[in-house]
Amino acid sequence: MRSRAQIVVVGGGPGGLCAALSAAQNGAEVTLLDAYPEPGGQFYHQPPRWRLANATRRQTQGRALWQRAQAAGVKIRSEVLVWNTSSERILSLNGPEGVEEIQADALILATGAYERPAAFPGWTLPGVITSGAAQILLYHKVRPGKRLLVAGAGPLQLVTAAHLVQAGVKVAAVLEGGRLVSKGLRQPWALWGQWERAREGLESLLTLASRKVPFLSGWGILAAHGDEQVEGATIARLDEKWRPIPGTEREVACDTICTGYGLVPFNALSRLCGAEQEWRPGQGGEVPRRDAWMQTSVPGIYAV
Ligand SMILES: Cc1cc2nc3c(=O)[nH]c(=O)nc-3n(C[C@H](O)[C@H](O)[C@H](O)COP(=O)(O)OP(=O)(O)OC[C@H]3O[C@@H](n4cnc5c(N)ncnc54)[C@H](O)[C@@H]3O)c2cc1C
Repeated sequence: MRSRAQIVVVGGGPGGLCAALSAAQNGAEVTLLDAYPEPGGQFYHQPPRWRLANATRRQTQGRALWQRAQAAGVKIRSEVLVWNTSSERILSLNGPEGVEEIQADALILATGAYERPAAFPGWTLPGVITSGAAQILLYHKVRPGKRLLVAGAGPLQLVTAAHLVQAGVKVAAVLEGGRLVSKGLRQPWALWGQWERAREGLESLLTLASRKVPFLSGWGILAAHGDEQVEGATIARLDEKWRPIPGTEREVACDTICTGYGLVPFNALSRLCGAEQEWRPGQGGEVPRRDAWMQTSVPGIYAV
């Protein structure tokens, strides 16, 4: 079955919801498709709903945003996976009503990002997961393990570690590959205007400190060990170029390792449309080339 729609937004995260709301407020007929059971994307869905005061705030913010979008007339369809798109803006989807196609007059892609995996000896052992996976397990009230090691780079690691601790999981250590805290102290202006993020980072650090969880800045994971499951890890101090410094290796006992080395833009749908891509290391990799109106190289297809 193929239906028609004026504007289709793929992705119900903050980007897609804002795009849909804005288009609807300007008189367009908008359908928003999202693969998850509820809109909100990673930002509004990932913190555990239980126990955390800030989870409630985010959930509330996310819910308010999608209710505003619905009130503005956006038709939100959840649990709908878009598995193909074409340069003619024909979308193939699979959802609760089965397989169907939509011909869109205009298409807005807001599919977000996914986590960059890191490979190291032992990384395929059961028990090595990404921090996003840990967050999703917590969201479903499942503790990922009994004794965790969190390793990676960037503020998301800190936040994940704090969520784990608050959920009652023992965190052996948090390894930050870069010099996150000292960089923040050396360049405080980089945080200017990022008050929410700075507050979240500080709160996470305080949570870790209150439970005496070691936060090792400039450290990384060298290997995971275990026969059938993670039983421990070798960690080491890293130099400025992220090379392990010989002689600093340590063994850490753990049954789960959460890694997170940044995000990669999810550009599969824009590639399927034939949109030109460009390499933007600051944004995590390849993203669709866009004009000032956020239109890709394919007319009528936009990306946020
Ligand atoms: C695992 C993970 C955890 C994160 N945690 C945080 C955090 O704690 N704090 C923070 O500031 N940022 C976090 N981020 C970064 C996050 O990408 C941004 O904060 C923000 O969510 C981006 O908004 P967005 O709308 O661009 O994309 P997202 O919020 O990622 O939303 C994209 C939406 O597109 C949908 N989608 C994707 N492909 C399809 C498809 N083919 N068919 C249908 N639907 C599709 C997804 O279901 C999703 O709902 C996280 C990212 C990841 C991957």
